[in-house]
Amino acid sequence: MTKTKIYMDNAATTKLSDKAFEAMVPFLIDSYGNASSIYALGREAQIALTNSRESIAKSLNCEGREIFFTSGGSEADNWAIKGAALQMLKKGKKHIITTEFEHHAVLHVLDGLKKQGFEITYLPVNENGVVKVSDFENAIREDTGFSSIMFVNNEIGTIQPISEIGSICKEKGICFHTDAVQAIGNVKINIKELNVDMLSISAHKIHGPKGVGLLYIRKGLRIPNLIEGGAQEMNRRAGTENIAGIVGFSQALKESVRNLDDKNSRLIRLRDKIIENFMKIERVHLNGDLEKRVPANLNFSFEGVEGESLLLMLDQKGIAASSGSACTSGSLDPSHVLLALGLPHEVAHGSLRLSMSDLTTEKEVDEVISTVPEIISYLRSFSPLWDHIKENEKNK
Ligand SMILES: *Cc1c(COP(=O)(O)O)cnc(C)c1O
Repeated sequence: MTKTKIYMDNAATTKLSDKAFEAMVPFLIDSYGNASSIYALGREAQIALTNSRESIAKSLNCEGREIFFTSGGSEADNWAIKGAALQMLKKGKKHIITTEFEHHAVLHVLDGLKKQGFEITYLPVNENGVVKVSDFENAIREDTGFSSIMFVNNEIGTIQPISEIGSICKEKGICFHTDAVQAIGNVKINIKELNVDMLSISAHKIHGPKGVGLLYIRKGLRIPNLIEGGAQEMNRRAGTENIAGIVGFSQALKESVRNLDDKNSRLIRLRDKIIENFMKIERVHLNGDLEKRVPANLNFSFEGVEGESLLLMLDQKGIAASSGSACTSGSLDPSHVLLALGLPHEVAHGSLRLSMSDLTTEKEVDEVISTVPEIISYLRSFSPLWDHIKENEKNK
């Protein structure tokens, strides 16, 4: 098996930062206490928990008591949506607004609610992968009680107008949640200015550990619990706290929001270098808006190429990339996100997502730039689909 040398799949997960690892170690070895215990070992854990909560609250500009640690982004999304749905039923409302290209941790929960009688509007995204605020306004009904719209799309990196939609929700009394898992560490997040009631984050997408995340719940908003049991997290999320994970999360978040502008200018330069070179390839498409987009994400479709074959050949060269979300790879269905952009099936099939991070080097980018075009011509040299495309070109 070839070893991965170049990691271009940071939207799937990231390498744990050295400092996050160092911060975690004591809580895995000596300070292993339960934060609910009253003796010294427990108090050490309790203090670490409180400090992490406060540090995270400061990074996000909210209060510590508005942060509820979860097992990750998926749990945070599940809790926000299931909780808000139960809450709106009490008010006799049953209409929810979302988009066609949410993460499955949102879409599949909403599918379940639909079966229970909720009515869901899936907003289309324009061909650039950005929701129109006017579409959102037009979708609002008398009985709209909740909306969940992702901040940054995980496949094409496009940034949605969260603050604008949030202010409409505020005015209309609609509870508003955003999945910010791909936004944090890529765009500045100031919760106070965002007009959201709830927001989900996951640690492992920002060089923190896997299995820990949080749901921000605006103070004053009550939703039913998802996980019942002990009194942890102010009685709202049961389960012995994952102290090492939370400490690592807090450290990773601190690093990921630091010098964001500088980190992003470097990534924009690397991104533009890739774009400039890939656009020389015949029949290539860059998916998603380039302005309203996080610099770390690139998504291309190559006509006449099978995405899975491209990924396998890249893997043989030690390059890790993705054709879409990790959940869709392995299945042969093209990504629901690319289809939502209006790409034809056969074009969506030949797609490649490259997602970079602070750890991505220019040397790695240069190797990707020299490798991908070679693989594309090789795959096209025996692709019947490509022959067909060229045949059609001639007959035009
Ligand atoms: C990764 C991801 C999730 C899920 O987070 P986990 O911590 O892996 O459960 C949810 N939403 C988006 C947009 C993601 O990219």
